[in-house]
Amino acid sequence: MSDVIVIGGGAAGMMAACSAAENGHNVTLIEKNEKLGKKIYITGKGRCNVTNAGETTAFFEQVVRNPKSLYSAVYSFDAPQVMAFMEKHGCPLKVERGNRVFPVSDHASDVIRACAKALEHAGVRVCLNTRVERLLTEAAEADAEIGSGEPLRAEYADARIKGRRDAGRKELDKAERRILGVCLSNGECLRADAVIAATGGLSYPATGSDGDGFRFAKELGIGVEQPRPALVPFVVREEWCKRLQGLTLKNVAVSLESGRKIIYSGQGEMLFTHFGVSGPLILSASSYYANARGKCKTGQDSGEGAGTHRGPEEDMTLIIDLKPALSEEVLDRRLLREFEQNRNKQFKNAVEGLFPSKLIPVMVELSGIEGAKAVHDINKEERAAFGRLIKKLPLTVTGTRGYAEAVITQGGVSVKEINPSTMESKKIKGLYFAGEVLDVDALTGGYNLQIAWATGHLAGESVRSII
Ligand SMILES: Cc1cc2nc3c(=O)[nH]c(=O)nc-3n(C[C@H](O)[C@H](O)[C@H](O)COP(=O)(O)OP(=O)(O)OC[C@H]3O[C@@H](n4cnc5c(N)ncnc54)[C@H](O)[C@@H]3O)c2cc1C
Repeated sequence: MSDVIVIGGGAAGMMAACSAAENGHNVTLIEKNEKLGKKIYITGKGRCNVTNAGETTAFFEQVVRNPKSLYSAVYSFDAPQVMAFMEKHGCPLKVERGNRVFPVSDHASDVIRACAKALEHAGVRVCLNTRVERLLTEAAEADAEIGSGEPLRAEYADARIKGRRDAGRKELDKAERRILGVCLSNGECLRADAVIAATGGLSYPATGSDGDGFRFAKELGIGVEQPRPALVPFVVREEWCKRLQGLTLKNVAVSLESGRKIIYSGQGEMLFTHFGVSGPLILSASSYYANARGKCKTGQDSGEGAGTHRGPEEDMTLIIDLKPALSEEVLDRRLLREFEQNRNKQFKNAVEGLFPSKLIPVMVELSGIEGAKAVHDINKEERAAFGRLIKKLPLTVTGTRGYAEAVITQGGVSVKEINPSTMESKKIKGLYFAGEVLDVDALTGGYNLQIAWATGHLAGESVRSII
């Protein structure tokens, strides 16, 4: 039996703690909040989209960064297993449109309750209101004494006694580095044979995710890919957007372009807001925007928890196709028909059948055609240009709404640093990472929680017995 410390009582941490404890380890789960699963409460608009019951192979198509690194985790603890876990611990589930899985009760709190029950059943010791300040490893703590006051590894102690501190450290650096435990913010240090860091990312920092896991990793020389907000609304330059605040457009297509490169294209629902655009389609686009930013050396986020985040030096363009079902030619024929039927009307009154009423004055203004112009005076070129505007309505994306409104953090502990079959750090033996702290993220639909459950489960399963 090993002493295992799990840092973070979110989805990944709770699952990791359960599976480590079920494997016979002595597990302590440390959470800095006053309760477990604070982020889970707000998932799925309070209903918690627990996982996605679609084919596991299709799951990986929804993962934006590093899907291959998740093969072991997701195949060894897939959606049916997550569902069986929840139901076993008292949370019956239902499957909705798009294979999205929710509690029958529509209450996210029931998911947390099921996890808490599982933790209790597995005998996990839960410490709330407790913050881990740093991780203890042999190399980092070579000359420290922790917890009970026991000296650290004998070979280092020997080196210190002989006054060969540097030599001792070099030896340790060459040797396999191992986790020793954690130090809390109250100064107390706890020994452990294994530590699982499930500290989340930076999004919705009020839930407790404020990037501690990234700091822990960096302090130990473990690579962290630049974090950035994803699944997040866009801020746009065009002032006319504000006038459309509250307008939802269904069945539109968007493409996100950086110079001549198309970063994302998709079809669905979007929403205009006082700052720009949001809605499911935009959130998906934002994950690819974030990914493109990650590859871009400039315009990186400050890492602060809130506020608007600037995009790359070069702003990106979001092109909205208001009539994706119609080709340019078919649309032109439709416009011609509308104009012929309304030939004596003013232009602004002749397009009523084409758009929601809130959008009409904006489209008229952007077309450059005088609203009061009689339709029979509109020439072929003007009509064609109007058709192009409908198919390619451009918006300039200047940034995102930042971590305060980001469903997920993209970037994080590099998957190159982790053994994907165990979630263990390649540099520090006995240190595991799970959940959003890792550089993996997916689109909406229950996939991000599935990543948290699966990586947490694998990390907990992988803890090896020391004795
Ligand atoms: C508004 C919103 C809605 C969402 N809806 C869905 C959805 O319906 N379906 C879906 O699949 N995904 C959804 N997500 C994403 C999903 O919630 C996350 O991907 C998932 O919860 C990540 O779990 P985690 O355990 O890795 O991290 P977190 O849930 O962030 O948990 C990390 C925990 O670690 C604790 N912690 C951090 N540092 C320390 C420290 N130093 N010491 C002690 N404790 C520490 C934190 O307090 C926190 O409780 C949503 C996200 C948001 C913001």
